[in-house]
Amino acid sequence: MVPRFFMDRIFAPPMSTDKEGKAIVAPYPLRKVEAVLAKSGFNVVVTTPEKLEKVVTSKGTKVIGINVHDPRGIEPVSAKLSMIFGGGETWTAKFFDELGEKVSKLKEKFHLKVVVGGAGAWQLEKDPPRWADVIFLGHAEVDFPEVVKKLEQGEEVPRVVRGRYPRKLDEIPPIINPSRGGEVQITRGCPRGCWFCSVTPDTFISFPLDYIMREVEVNMKAGIKDVSLITDDMLLYGAKRLNEVNHDAIVRLYAELKRAGVDYINFAHISAAPVKLSPKTVKAMAEIAEWNEEKAVSPVVGLETGSEKIFNKYMKMKAFPWNYTNWKDLIVESTAIMNESYIFPCYTMTIGYPEETDKDVEDSIKLVEYIIDHEPIAWIFPLPVIPMGLSKIRDNPLPALERLPSRYWDLLYLSWKYDLKITRRLGNTIAYTSKNPFIRSIVTYMIDKVFKTIEWYFERLKETKGKSALEYRELNLNTTYGVVWSLFQLLRLAFSSSLPPS
Ligand code: SF4
Repeated sequence: MVPRFFMDRIFAPPMSTDKEGKAIVAPYPLRKVEAVLAKSGFNVVVTTPEKLEKVVTSKGTKVIGINVHDPRGIEPVSAKLSMIFGGGETWTAKFFDELGEKVSKLKEKFHLKVVVGGAGAWQLEKDPPRWADVIFLGHAEVDFPEVVKKLEQGEEVPRVVRGRYPRKLDEIPPIINPSRGGEVQITRGCPRGCWFCSVTPDTFISFPLDYIMREVEVNMKAGIKDVSLITDDMLLYGAKRLNEVNHDAIVRLYAELKRAGVDYINFAHISAAPVKLSPKTVKAMAEIAEWNEEKAVSPVVGLETGSEKIFNKYMKMKAFPWNYTNWKDLIVESTAIMNESYIFPCYTMTIGYPEETDKDVEDSIKLVEYIIDHEPIAWIFPLPVIPMGLSKIRDNPLPALERLPSRYWDLLYLSWKYDLKITRRLGNTIAYTSKNPFIRSIVTYMIDKVFKTIEWYFERLKETKGKSALEYRELNLNTTYGVVWSLFQLLRLAFSSSLPPS
């Protein structure tokens, strides 16, 4: 539904490269693979899809490695958005196919080998593209250099390889070139062991402060003054057990980042339980990082479910050292603690387990209503649970619109209505920071119109139990037919007096 122009110019513009086609910054995992291969003596060039031909032609490339996050468009957020907007192909899947065509031609011309790995490589395990010689799953440190060496020398390699986890820190080299957005990893793995999570099998590691600062320095030398901490739980940093927060280690980390001249500290994930365990750590992080309403952080926090049955089967340790009976109060208390420190959580829920019924979803609705009653600054996203490749539920079927419990659509509407309310509130705050009254009124007018339309869309999904999404199945705004078709639909809706509010 998103025209190509917007993807190419706004949402996914090409990354910058130097004259030789080397990427100026790259996603952190790719930088890690680069460091691993360089340590093993390989000559590595990290480039972008747009500059691939130039690099291959000029460098005498023998092996192309492709890092993928969502090659089939079934990662949880893509799967949900594509499902509720008609079930069409995602841009991530389309871009991957386009890259595949390019790689096929290069392979034929230069007799190269191709290996695909990364966080989304599990999506290709059962049905690898014909041009990929190897699908590499898991971490790169232990086995990836050997795979590349064999491919280079023309030796046999199995079609799917599972990389073992590094057991010692000195097996994991720090990055040697700058990462996108100043990303640096501070922990790896998570001991809570949720069944739906692909992080689970990792051995938990907290990276030492000097290791982290070496990576930060690489980014800062390239002029990147912001830091984005990669972790599955910010408050697990430096902890030895799940029932403790290592306050001193976290304060030392934040203070050191600030001392090094970092402007903005951001982090990806946090769990609700340790927030309640150590509110003073959350407060200290916010004070050192100098977060405020316009410079806040919005990490992803697992809310998952309100159902006791689902909670105790799939995510029993989520609330540890508490348990399911404390879950809803734990969430409300932790959210209040985070909000006081300008941490505005994005709560994600996993819905659609095989044994999940409307009664379970009803319990999730009650949990969300309870949270909303306390009016926190938080967003709630009920996502279809995806059987990711390295998780314990990897053999479950992929979620489908018709298999979701029917009350899912009520939960979705309730959550989005609240999400829009919070976004509108923060959007208005941002609009009011503009001194120009004309800009202020334009921004608030746009927010109002866009949000009314989105709310109308989700209300229709609720009323039709998701079936209204199917009306958009054939919509393709990249074709003249698609544009004419959508105009026709608008006219049809106008005459049936159910026109969206804008
Ligand atoms: S708490 Fe989060 S990171 Fe840890 S296992 Fe559960 S879902 Fe994965």
